[in-house]
Amino acid sequence: MMKKNVICPFCGCLCDDLGITIEDGKITGVDNGCSLAKAKFLRKERLQSPVIRRGNETIQTGYEEAVTYAAEILNNAQRPLFFGWSGTQGEAQAKGVHLCMLLGGVIDNTSSLCHGPSIMGIQEVGHPGCTLGQVKNRADLIIYWGCNPLESHPRHMSRYTTYADGFFLKNAFRERKLIVVDVRKTMSSDIADEFIQIEQGGDYAVLSALRAMVRGEDEIIPDMVSGVSKSQLKRIVEMCKGAKFGALFFGLGLTMSRHKYKNIRNAVELTEELSRHTKFTISPMRGHWNVYGANEVFTWMTGYPYAVDFAKGIPFYNPGETTAADILFRKECDALMIVSSDPAAHMPKKCVEHMANIPVIHIDPHKNCTSFFSDIQIPVAITGIEASGTAYRMDGVPLRTKKIIETDFPTDTDIISRIYEKIQEMRNSV
Ligand code: SF4
Repeated sequence: MMKKNVICPFCGCLCDDLGITIEDGKITGVDNGCSLAKAKFLRKERLQSPVIRRGNETIQTGYEEAVTYAAEILNNAQRPLFFGWSGTQGEAQAKGVHLCMLLGGVIDNTSSLCHGPSIMGIQEVGHPGCTLGQVKNRADLIIYWGCNPLESHPRHMSRYTTYADGFFLKNAFRERKLIVVDVRKTMSSDIADEFIQIEQGGDYAVLSALRAMVRGEDEIIPDMVSGVSKSQLKRIVEMCKGAKFGALFFGLGLTMSRHKYKNIRNAVELTEELSRHTKFTISPMRGHWNVYGANEVFTWMTGYPYAVDFAKGIPFYNPGETTAADILFRKECDALMIVSSDPAAHMPKKCVEHMANIPVIHIDPHKNCTSFFSDIQIPVAITGIEASGTAYRMDGVPLRTKKIIETDFPTDTDIISRIYEKIQEMRNSV
């Protein structure tokens, strides 16, 4: 049996044209998916039942015992931290926010390690963005800044930019110009019409120089700006001003390098200045498939997109203080619940060291680096494959991911709801 138009729950592109072959209740083939999608849909290995760590041993247990154990850990904590959320559905994210509110904890999602600075920049100066459909149909100039989509989002170019013919661009590959800005050559830069190789940490200076040149202030620009020649900058400005519709996409090379959110502010302001000459938009290349959804759900429930602290009974947001890495670094939290994420693989050593010293609850279908630090891991259904749920594409368009095969595993929404109810029971019985 073939299921058509399946949404891929891997990266922020949320490609919705996959064909999935199912035989005897198992996935045996993936059409249209990139190598990342195939790895996700065809992955066989998974955790089969909840496991509790006792010393150096892990012991299998049942779901009821696992939920009770997790509830006890959280109920006994003074300052629980809830982290992850970008690899699950909006419904589970909403339950997580409710659980955090109940316990007066801190809830953060993985955007604090990736596009949190993008959000801070956008909070300062706004977001002149658009949908990926607009880009596909209209954009005749694409800029990828600090990202390598051919490897991180393998179908971004074929569905929306370089290789995607659109309503107003019948032969996109020839009609659309491509500029790549990065500190090193990549697969994406190899196919660019212009590759701007900047010095590490030089993004802010190059953005500022481009803005000045867009305003016609060429005379104040030196011959070289962070490794880029003035003549190349001039050429880029002419390409941008000459485009009918330009779309700038940026990645972690911009958000997580020197100047962080100020880079994003500068890039947004460059976009706005270019829009005085033509039409220009800017969009973050969101990584995890529903990290945008985590920002949306947190915002409509708490007013803030990530790093929300309920210790005072009301939501408080201060990136750098209430972000998960900072709380772990300061050894401030005394329990950690992780949903669909692997912070042990991505956070600084000091944060991971604190994870090893506090009780950790891990809700995830698969073992990963964080499993080795978890006091309890509860496997769940894989959202978008074994459970349906709402996700937001990288351009903010909400889509409904499908359940395409049956499973006996509970969803993470179920597990979080059961932990919430168990804590309420515990509190009511005191
Ligand atoms: S580009 Fe992203 S969403 Fe599309 S198939 Fe590949 S991993 Fe899935």
